[in-house]
Amino acid sequence: MNHPENDKEYKGLQVNSGVAQPPSVNPYMRPLRRKPVPSVGEMVEGVLKGDMTMLSRAVTLVESLLPEHYAKAQEVIEKCLPYSGKSRRIGITGVPGAGKSTSIDVFGLHVLKQGGKLAVLAIDPSSERTNGSILGDKTRMERLSVHPNAFIRPSPSAGSLGGVARKTRETVVLCEAAGFDNIFIETVGVGQSETAVHSMVDFFLLIQLAGTGDELQGIKRGIMEMADGIVINKADGDNIQRAQLAQAQFRSALHLFPPTASGWQPEVLTYSGYFELGIPEVWEMIDRYFEFVTANGYFETRRRQQARYWMRETIDEQLRSHFYRDPAIAQMLSTLEEQVLSNRLSSFTAATEALDTYFNRFK
Ligand code: GDP
Repeated sequence: MNHPENDKEYKGLQVNSGVAQPPSVNPYMRPLRRKPVPSVGEMVEGVLKGDMTMLSRAVTLVESLLPEHYAKAQEVIEKCLPYSGKSRRIGITGVPGAGKSTSIDVFGLHVLKQGGKLAVLAIDPSSERTNGSILGDKTRMERLSVHPNAFIRPSPSAGSLGGVARKTRETVVLCEAAGFDNIFIETVGVGQSETAVHSMVDFFLLIQLAGTGDELQGIKRGIMEMADGIVINKADGDNIQRAQLAQAQFRSALHLFPPTASGWQPEVLTYSGYFELGIPEVWEMIDRYFEFVTANGYFETRRRQQARYWMRETIDEQLRSHFYRDPAIAQMLSTLEEQVLSNRLSSFTAATEALDTYFNRFK
């Protein structure tokens, strides 16, 4: 190079000619190999053997939003269905801070001490909005998350509550086929999600807190009516008496409710998840419930009703998503919406127009 610095007369610092640039990618690196995607048969076989990795992959497939995964997921579920149904499905709800994760950790260990396998799933409506789930996070259940017989899965995140709930329900099928005999489904006690959980469990447990003086005020009547058991957490230290007072209040409130379809009188207990007090008692209550409803046939009745409910729900959801996913409809809707917003068209007329366009396709 003809740098002035390289002139023979030049006395200052000189520029060396340099070396060739190394390639920016390491030529010795082995190419990354993606794990081959298992076939439907391999997945089903793995799930039935109780292989946790395969179960995880099957659940991921169920949760996938890609249309090409949908058919495959349905095939896996279909093949697993004959092996499902043999677990105790228990719903657990409570407001944030009620102690759900602390309690599930402790209840879970208690259940696993008796043998078997436990899956913890979650339905978390907030994960739709924030893209982050506040439930089912492994770090929240410290001991359970490292237990070899526990499978913890956070809430499916995207989609409507109906879609999220359907995916969880399908995950229940996979877990049961994989030999899980206890399934907890957790949800936050803030809205519609309890109804979704209630419609897929055999027993619904409501975790409450004492100490505010007006315990019954904040709880929606509907949630209390759904509960098969109410447990008042944090009955420890100074809080024991308040918890007992709340227990008495809940008991008398429950007496005012109409008799439940199962014939079971919901029980109210106090316990402490953190200090692990009263845990076996809570579990004995749940055992008593299962004995009761198995004996009087309600267990089967409820499952059949739920199966019908889920058939209807799936039809509703599929119809809705087929409609909204249609590109022509989507385009039409945005024009119609504009007209509705600027008062040029009534909502009803706009809806009818869109629906007519859709249904005319099938004529
Ligand atoms: P979640 O939001 O319902 O999952 O509630 P967490 O399990 O995260 O509990 C919320 C807070 O309450 C945490 O700080 C826990 O340590 C505390 N907590 C949970 N269970 C108990 C209990 O039985 N007694 C007391 N004193 N604190 C508890």
